[in-house]
Amino acid sequence: MLMTDPSQPLVFLVGAGPGSPGLLTLRAAEVLARADLVLYDQLVPERLLEFASPAARTMCVRELPGQHPDKYPHIHSLLIETARAGKTVVRLKGGDPLIFGRGGEEAEALRTAGIAYEIVPGVTAAIAAGAYLEIPLTHREHASAIALVTGHEVPNKPGTRIDWRALSAFPGTLAIYMGIARLPIIVSELLKHGKDPKTPAAIVERASSGEQRSVYATLDGIEDARRHGGLEAPGLILVGDAIARRAAAPWFESRPLFGRRVLVTRPRHQALGMVQKLEHLGAVVSRLSAVDIREPADLSGIDAAVSQLRRGEWDWLVFTSANGVHALLRRVDAFGLDVRVLGRVRIATIGPKTAAALREYRVRADVVPDATFSSEGLAAALGPHVGGQRVLLARANRGRDLLRQELAKVAAAVEQVTVYDQVDAIAPEGAVLDALRRGEIRYVTLPSSNIARGVLGAFDETIRGRVARGEIHLVAISPETGKAVRELGYPVAAEADVFTEDGLIDAVVRLARAEPVT
Ligand code: SAH
Repeated sequence: MLMTDPSQPLVFLVGAGPGSPGLLTLRAAEVLARADLVLYDQLVPERLLEFASPAARTMCVRELPGQHPDKYPHIHSLLIETARAGKTVVRLKGGDPLIFGRGGEEAEALRTAGIAYEIVPGVTAAIAAGAYLEIPLTHREHASAIALVTGHEVPNKPGTRIDWRALSAFPGTLAIYMGIARLPIIVSELLKHGKDPKTPAAIVERASSGEQRSVYATLDGIEDARRHGGLEAPGLILVGDAIARRAAAPWFESRPLFGRRVLVTRPRHQALGMVQKLEHLGAVVSRLSAVDIREPADLSGIDAAVSQLRRGEWDWLVFTSANGVHALLRRVDAFGLDVRVLGRVRIATIGPKTAAALREYRVRADVVPDATFSSEGLAAALGPHVGGQRVLLARANRGRDLLRQELAKVAAAVEQVTVYDQVDAIAPEGAVLDALRRGEIRYVTLPSSNIARGVLGAFDETIRGRVARGEIHLVAISPETGKAVRELGYPVAAEADVFTEDGLIDAVVRLARAEPVT
């Protein structure tokens, strides 16, 4: 029996799409945000788990006992037991859950157990390959149909359900999943049953990511082309006349950072926006959180500041980061208070990102520098306003003292309050440092002096050597951060013109334009 009460916890069988997070559906993102448990397949990039709440438990089916397909009973019982315990479960599967994903069997098991569920479709690999490699899967002149085929079944095995004769005569594009390991057999079956050996064919790997690769040949030459190109499973085989109508330079591969390997070093919970922008530009992004943001170890300062703000003791409140905005207002919230504690205090922010963080609380900054988003820029913009006034600077436990010094020259009083702590967070044995040692990352983005010191402090001799030889480029968000990098003895490959995340990304793009893909 199905439970239909929509307030009941549900299991969601969710398609994650082919890999690029932007290809997740809105519904998938919604239910991920609500999940208590996310059980995901091996092919699902772990990046997508960031759409889940930090409180959710995430688990890869790899961790369940048994080798595929013996895992299935364990998957089914985990879904059922978790739902019965009143928890919301997202079962996240690559592409579409019902296309070669055994989602149908999972739905059946839930149905039998009387657990209410929902199925959220996803962009299946063939559709993503069509879009990201600009291969028309249907074409008015060349293909009136698409067949999604599994290449997993050995032809001629007793009971095989694949009719290669019918597929050879199929009037459209064949998209063969899970077939790379059996490519020679698949080709020979198609040829044996009369498919024209000169039919265009393609092999596509990691479609929709910056690592996407493809080779093209006629059907009789596609295995040679695959071997020559070094493409391996998992990948997709496409066969059909419409493939000849593909674009020579597909839009995604023409993006300025296509295939470039870029490191994002922002704190984990703040990295997502930058990662996504880089991915849309075609980059292959790795992440290393140099510092984590925490509530201050000592809350007395921030608590006193909240009381003082309530009593109207400050004329100006200054934020030098979005973190500071969120940290202070989180603390206000923890007291059962809200933005009204700010009262008539006037507010300055270091740049537009910090101002945007305030706008999330429907609060506007009174002063934001026009162009230079640094302590210098803020001191210059704020100086004329704070003569004889009392100024409170909300900041991290560490950072520069320049703003306080500059404002103290004109203000009646300037105090700093630590509203959040930055703590170092790099484990030297981490996978990303290994990738840097092996030369698999080319651009290291450094969004602040603190982060630069944290990241470069974790570099060893091998990485240092690669930077010195220009194999790894350090890209700084501002001259200030560039200076911090040089003080640590490293060369700076580029500095942003505009001292924002977008400016930093632009600096990487400029560098990438100037050098061929390696
Ligand atoms: N449910 C998935 C398919 C699972 S079977 C979907 O709808 O896409 C796994 C196979 O999908 C792989 O062997 C490969 O053939 C194909 N595949 C998945 N993601 C891919 C991608 N990004 N690029 C090319 N092929 C992919």
